[in-house]
Amino acid sequence: MSLSDILGTAKKLENAIFLPKLDAYLDSLNEKEWEDKTSRKHDTGLHPSQISGCLRRAVFSKLGAEIITTPDRKPLRVHPKSRRIFDNGSYLHERMQKYFKDMGLLLGTWECKSCGSVSPTRQIEEDLFENEGLTYKEEGWVFYNKYKLYDIFKVMVPVPKSCPYCGGTHFTYAEVPIYVPEQEVEGRTDGIAYLGKDYLKDIRNRNFEDFYILEFKSENSFKFQKHSSAHQVHINQAAIYSFGTGFMVDKIAVIYEDKNTQEIKEYIVQVTKEMQEEVLRRIKILNHSLRTKELPKDKMKSECTYCPHKIVCDSELTYEQIENRVLNIRLGKEVSDENFDLGGDMLW
Ligand code: SF4
Ligand SMILES: [Zn+2]
Repeated sequence: MSLSDILGTAKKLENAIFLPKLDAYLDSLNEKEWEDKTSRKHDTGLHPSQISGCLRRAVFSKLGAEIITTPDRKPLRVHPKSRRIFDNGSYLHERMQKYFKDMGLLLGTWECKSCGSVSPTRQIEEDLFENEGLTYKEEGWVFYNKYKLYDIFKVMVPVPKSCPYCGGTHFTYAEVPIYVPEQEVEGRTDGIAYLGKDYLKDIRNRNFEDFYILEFKSENSFKFQKHSSAHQVHINQAAIYSFGTGFMVDKIAVIYEDKNTQEIKEYIVQVTKEMQEEVLRRIKILNHSLRTKELPKDKMKSECTYCPHKIVCDSELTYEQIENRVLNIRLGKEVSDENFDLGGDMLW
């Protein structure tokens, strides 16, 4: 066989086999998400990303308004390439969390890679709360996502040496849950970093000087090169995580990564009284809107370009009309779209 025959064979094998499958798989996720959205009965609490951005968008998102924005009830589609870009941004968190874990700086909850158990060890919980009148749960690792304000400190522990159940020594970071039932706020920080020597002592003494809330963000080079301080929306978001600690952890490290070049930037932000007030103001507006069924008036124009609710936002639909349309679609009823041009089917 001549060299050109061999190269000819090799050339044929270069044809993509897996990429079409991958594209089809990524595209199929649109259908799945659509099903989840249309079958979802109601959203859970307010998430920090919702509270920190456009408040109209937050309300639309809680209402599930995106399901009324296609005329023939097809899912709004995210292109496979866009999805890969978004997912790559999401994995930044895992990567950075691993780096911070390996540096010994992370506090939080941990998942044993061998048996899947999650949470701090019983010993740590006993140590921390033995004199504070809190009940220690004999059955073992506690249900961490139902904690109230300040109880967040129960779930801030360094990576365990070994799993008390199976002896496993490999853990992944399960992040730090924030839950404020009075305001229905819930979410997860990207991490809590600790630079001090004795975190239990510091928590007991309410000394949070050495604690930092971490925020990891990825963005394209164009955006990355333009700023010399953290984006306001990210500062707002981190301030809400600070709220989840009763504003006791009030320093935030916002770390940006350039998706194109892997350059990084860090901004340390101190949560001020004004920022605290802004967080509370936003939560109040959202809760008021959800209670009175009135859409917030202020539009955050900087977020409009990629907003999935733009069509609904620009329409004349009221809160209750949107709510009814969503409900009818979820119940499988016909919805009349007269006077409402709902646009095409490709979102990005
Ligand atoms: S289109 Fe703009 S103003 Fe309207 S909800 Fe979206 S981000 Fe907010
Ligand atoms: Zn285990």
